[in-house]
Amino acid sequence: MRTAQKQDSASIMLRSFLLLIIIIIFFSSLTTVVAVGHQLLEVSRSNSAEIITSLKKTVIDGDGDWKNWRSNSTLNTSTSYVHVVNNRPDADTKNYYSPGTYSLLKIRPQKVFFFSHLYYRNGKGFFYYKMGHAKGIQYQLWTSLNQQAEILERVILVTIVILVLTLLISPLYIRVIADRLTDPLKKLTTSAKKAAVKPSQDRVQLPVPVQPNEVNELANSFNQLLTRLNKQAEQEKLFVSNAAHELRTPIATIRSHAQLIERRGKAHPEIIPKSVHYINDESQQMQTLVEELLTLSRADRMQLDFTEFDVSALLVKIVGQLQPLIPQTIQATLPEKVTVTAHQASIEQIVLNLLNNASKYSPADSQIQLILSEDNSHPVLQVVDQGRGITDQEKQHIFERFYRSDEIRGSIPGTGLGLAIVKQLSDLNHLQLTVRDNQPAGTIFTLTF
Ligand code: ADP
Repeated sequence: MRTAQKQDSASIMLRSFLLLIIIIIFFSSLTTVVAVGHQLLEVSRSNSAEIITSLKKTVIDGDGDWKNWRSNSTLNTSTSYVHVVNNRPDADTKNYYSPGTYSLLKIRPQKVFFFSHLYYRNGKGFFYYKMGHAKGIQYQLWTSLNQQAEILERVILVTIVILVLTLLISPLYIRVIADRLTDPLKKLTTSAKKAAVKPSQDRVQLPVPVQPNEVNELANSFNQLLTRLNKQAEQEKLFVSNAAHELRTPIATIRSHAQLIERRGKAHPEIIPKSVHYINDESQQMQTLVEELLTLSRADRMQLDFTEFDVSALLVKIVGQLQPLIPQTIQATLPEKVTVTAHQASIEQIVLNLLNNASKYSPADSQIQLILSEDNSHPVLQVVDQGRGITDQEKQHIFERFYRSDEIRGSIPGTGLGLAIVKQLSDLNHLQLTVRDNQPAGTIFTLTF
């Protein structure tokens, strides 16, 4: 099984750049060597062609012609070797050799594979071979390529030196650049590790480097995430402590009445019904609170299945169920068959909570209106009451968990969780939820699908 090798960015950059540099240098060196070699061969080719042309023009048909050509030509006898073969039947001399040619040709140079004019003679090196015919006479010219080979060798040597120097220097340079780029990331990682082991109550923030931009953005995003997590952790703590606080009051009441019955129930049996009544009320309050806490915690993790359903039919059903349980009259204005795509059970819960609140915070002889309409083809649902209303200051807090207006604490039972549930379920159903004053009195809650 292959295990993934752990590598830091600097090593990855170093390896990739080195490979790239080696490939570039190798190919550019190869191109240089081929180009220089080709150019040198070209020069030899044109020189050879010139000499052969001058030989052909002269027509070496006797000793006089040969001497004449030798004295007039600028042939460099240390690098060029001429062999003239006179095949005419009337020729006095068959072969003419320029200095050194005879000994050179004692051992015939061997053709180099693939190159048409290139020959190699052991101990003498490479030769460019050119041959020409004219009037029954054959002219052979061997031009030594030793000088060109030397130039080529030097080019190859310089290329190798450059390659070695680049391979020695570039890793240092790349390392410095890579470190400069990855240093801010390393510092960020160290700070994040430190932040991870700090106790959660510390509001940890990571240092934000000015450059490079990507790390700056990463650090800022991390800090935003940390701030959100801190806030969430604080809210959760507050939620738990509020829940405990809200449960403590009914539990204390229940215990005190139970103790009262225990201590004085036998001697004063008339206190028992009253205390049982309190215990009943408080346990009911506790049950409501626990159920609402459960709804909220479920909603926190809920994945809603949306379906298309007739919301008017659902509202008719809710009104029918609730009307017998509340003193106010519900006046429903519901057009027939308005379909929405949402999570039906949570829509039912939202409407029930809003109607229950409208009932709880309104006089018994008032009216509650439930109006369904359409605004730009969006269904809009309004719950309108004529109750005590909500001040602008209260409006800012009513959707918070456990918020209850000071005036109604102790007088009207409640948990302060109803509207928090409404808000959370509305968000999950992508509904817009707003609250405003009704005229002359009361409140209007509006839900837009
Ligand atoms: P609860 O009703 O249990 O106190 P809610 O979350 O349902 O909790 O409501 C929060 C607060 O908002 C209530 O305590 C009350 O002060 C205010 N409120 C909610 N609905 C209405 C309403 N229809 N009329 C007046 N006040 C309301």
